[in-house]
Parts: sequence; C-alpha cells; structure tokens
Amino acid sequence: MQYITILGATGSIGVSTLDVLARHPEQYSVYALSAHSKVAELAAQCLQFRPQRAVVGTAAAAQELTRLLRGHGLAIEVGYGVQALCDIASAPQVTGVMAAIVGAAGLAPTLAAARAGKKVLLANKEALVMSGQLFMDAVQENHAVLLPIDSEHNAIFQCLPHDFARTPAASGVAKIVLTASGGPFLKRAVESLGNVTPDEACKHPKWVMGRKISVDSATMMNKGLEVIEAHWLFGAPADQIEVLIHPQSVIHSMVSYVDGSVLAQLGNPDMRTPIANALAWPQRIDSGVAQLDLAQVATLQFERADFTRFPCLALAFDALRAGGTAPALLNAANEVAVQAFLDLRIGFRQIEQVVAHVLASVANGAASSIEAVLEQDRLARAAAQAYIGDRLAA
Ligand code: NAD
Ligand code: MG
Repeated sequence: MQYITILGATGSIGVSTLDVLARHPEQYSVYALSAHSKVAELAAQCLQFRPQRAVVGTAAAAQELTRLLRGHGLAIEVGYGVQALCDIASAPQVTGVMAAIVGAAGLAPTLAAARAGKKVLLANKEALVMSGQLFMDAVQENHAVLLPIDSEHNAIFQCLPHDFARTPAASGVAKIVLTASGGPFLKRAVESLGNVTPDEACKHPKWVMGRKISVDSATMMNKGLEVIEAHWLFGAPADQIEVLIHPQSVIHSMVSYVDGSVLAQLGNPDMRTPIANALAWPQRIDSGVAQLDLAQVATLQFERADFTRFPCLALAFDALRAGGTAPALLNAANEVAVQAFLDLRIGFRQIEQVVAHVLASVANGAASSIEAVLEQDRLARAAAQAYIGDRLAA
C-alpha cells in the first residue's frame, strides 16, 4: 500500500489525482489532503477518502473544517498553515507527495517532501523554477524520487532512457522539444490583446486548469516556466530546449537524439495520464483516460513559437540564461502581475511589462540558499506591486 499526501487537493490537479487514486483503492491510500480556502470541497473529499490528516490555510478555516467533519465518525487530525503543510509532506508514513499547490506558496512543503526523501510528484513548477539547483540538490542528497507531472515533462521523462542521469550528451540527446498549444490567443490579432478579459484568457482551447496557469498559458509564460523546469529536471542548457507550437496537444513533448531519431509521447490531453504514470512508475495503471484515436485526430500541426507575440517566453529564456535568482524574480513578478490582471488592476499586455520591469530593476543575486531565494522573491513582489501602483493601475 502506498500512502499519498496531496498538497492542493481541491485544485484542478488535486481533483484529477483523487480521480486516479479512487480507481485503485487496493494500491493507494490517502494519508493527507490540503486546501487553502475551499473548506467545503475539502470536507467532501475527506468524507470520501478518509485521510488521517487535513490541512487548510487559517485557524478559522481549520475550525470550519472540524465543524463540517463532526458527527461522521472520522478521526481526522486538522491543522493549518505552512508548518502543517510541511508536516504532512514529510511524515514518516508517507510514501508519495503530490505537489499541486499553485505558485511560490508550494515551495516550503514541496522542499520538505524532497528533504524527507519522499517520492515527489511535481506539478508545482513554480517551486522548482524558484529554487532550481537547491531543490535538485535536496532531491539528490536525500534520495528522493522526483517525477514530473507537468504533461510536457512527463512526456520527456517517458522518452528518455531509464538510466538517464541529467546529462543529455551522455545519452545522445541533441534537443528537448517542448510542445505548446499556443493557448487561446495563438491566432488573435496582436493589437487586440490589450483588451482581453480574464475570462477570455482563462478559456484554454485544450485544457481546463486553475486560473493562474490558464493566464500563464495565454501569455505563454507557462511555457517559459516549463523551459526553466526542463532545464533543472533534465540538465539541458537553454540552447538545447526548443518550444514548438502544436495546437492539437496530442504530442505532449519530444526528445531528439543525435542519430536523428525523435521520440514523442502522445495521448489525449488529460492530466490523469501523467498523474497515473508518475503514481505507478515504473509500472502502468489505468488512468480513466480514453485510448487515443489518431484516425479521429487525423491532423497534427506544428509551427515555430513567435517570441514577438509572446514576449513572456523570451523573458523566461533570458532569466534562465542570466541564472542566479533571475528565475525566482521572473516567477514572483509574474505571480503578482497575473493576480493584478485577474483582479482587473492591469491589462493583459501589462503582465509582460511588470515582469520585464522587475527583471531590469531588481539586482540578480546568487541562489546560494533558500533564504536568499525567498528574499529575492520578496523584493521582486514589492517591486512589481510598486510598479503596478505607480505606473500602471488605472
Ligand atoms: P488550482 O488553482 O486549480 O489549485 C491550486 C491548489 O493550491 C488548490 O487546492 C488551493 O487550495 C491550493 N492553494 C492555493 N494557494 C495556496 C496557498 N497560498 N497555500 C496553500 N495552498 C494553496 O491550480 P492547478 O491548475 O491545479 O495547478 C496547480 C499546480 O500544478 C500549478 O503549479 C500549475 O502550474 C501546475 N500544473 C497544472 C496543470 C493543470 O492542468 N491544471 C498542468 C500542469 C501543471
Ligand atoms: Mg504543462
């Protein structure tokens, strides 16, 4: 039996993870679930999956959850706050941790899981983008097993040899090709992008996801974060990572080898496939996803990514090449800018302006410790808020 903690159980990835786990009750037991504010949803999940522990964001939310669980004959320990998240990610009984909190808030518990040597199923790409080498060191030093959930990285993971050791050249890898749907604004006139609404930006053509990653997909900052994520997961330099637009989202990514071979992973666009792959690795389990019918798909299209249409993609490549804490600055500025866009404080095109401003104005530092990274994260957020308040807010 594997005991699984889900950080961010009420989110899009959390719900898909529970869907897969529910199909295999003989193999997986839910140890703990967390949610930030959706207490009623979390309570319903607790009644169905009967975890030993549940964690929410605040003391008030914990009281509310305790009240909702009363009278159901469950002995669920309810906690709140960051330390409680770290505890459920590192408890001795836990075998695997699904890291599915969105944004920098997921860094501490995801790192706690790595430091405790757990099997870490990583959806929370922002945590890795921020902490990079420090996170990879924690995985290695504590013999944690890091398995990518992001569909592109899970695809690449499946296309690499089993003994791959983060040295692409040693395995004959010439290039990693990250596919991208291009999001909802692939064909929309660039001049009209200034006026798009949060709801338009969140209407992704292929995936239903949380609002933050949906906006990131519309700006293609999501792909930029994924380039940085791929760099750390697979040890590939920026020049060996290519972004390819593929609107059908059937090929989830590819690996090009020096002999001219290209290996790709295909499937219907449904996150339960990478989730099931990582949960059961190196075995395979049913995910509930229908088999791919290529005759019905009929056509697969590709085009080069347009860095003028999607400047956030260029900013992410710049941050990766700059190194140090530049990726953490990029991520923090983007989180603030996306929230400001969702709150109708800035326009869509101003997201890239905020990120560019922060990268140009906050001095890049050495990513020498998690504390140093968190300090840069704090500085970047302050700079982004000040810029939005002084220069951009209507
Ligand atoms: P979501 O917004 O649907 O869910 C986020 C979860 O995080 C919720 O359970 C929420 O309660 C929790 N949360 C939010 N803020 C928190 C905080 N401050 N502290 C603790 N918990 C908090 O997001 P999602 O779409 O499920 O994405 C989760 C992560 O997975 C993101 O990093 C995203 O980039 C990544 N990811 C998602 C998809 C997808 O298809 N949704 C695909 C690839 C990667
Ligand atoms: Mg992805």
